[in-house]
Amino acid sequence: MKWVLATRNAGKVTEFQRLADELDGGIEWLSLRDVGFREEVEEHGNTLAENARLKSWAVHRQIGLPVLSDDSGLFVDALDGAPGVRSARFAGEDSNDENNNTKLLGMMEGMEGRDAHFSVVLCAVMDGKEMLFEGSVEGAIAKSLEGNDGFGYDPLFIPNGFMETFAKISWEHKDAISHRRRAMEQFLRWKKNFF
Ligand code: IMP
Repeated sequence: MKWVLATRNAGKVTEFQRLADELDGGIEWLSLRDVGFREEVEEHGNTLAENARLKSWAVHRQIGLPVLSDDSGLFVDALDGAPGVRSARFAGEDSNDENNNTKLLGMMEGMEGRDAHFSVVLCAVMDGKEMLFEGSVEGAIAKSLEGNDGFGYDPLFIPNGFMETFAKISWEHKDAISHRRRAMEQFLRWKKNFF
């Protein structure tokens, strides 16, 4: 069965594909490029769910195939949930992972309470109907950048139960506990029951 994976973030695509292979969802994933979708969908929602819905529906309306999109972010307790929905653009519209991490470290300098979580909302749209799936992983923000793997805020996020950041632990460990894994499991369970 063919599904469009509506994201252009290379780090997320890698993880989704690894998870889909491991969890054996029986899906043939098509990228936005495969289906010729070129529009930039503006993520102006106030929640992860709103943004995920915007992306899935924009692609589904144009392409007609089943679509899975996600919106994710890092939520830091001491910063009232920032960077949150704005995680990708935390240091400005043209920001990159490096600027975002530098800004976050700067804002948290000297702070002792460093609890945070990653969350993701997946939005599946098929035959004009939608379903949402959520996943989170709890952890803490490191005091300096650690590790070279992964993407985004991985060099700053130490998941609970580990001593090292997502960018330092193996990807197998990240995949076993990540917010994306938890949401993907729910999506694949739903899909299995549905078909
Ligand atoms: P969006 O879902 O495309 O809006 O982007 C979410 C942003 O949150 C990414 O660009 C990353 O900065 C961050 N993010 C989401 N999931 C992860 C993750 O698993 N590791 C590191 N950063 C993440």
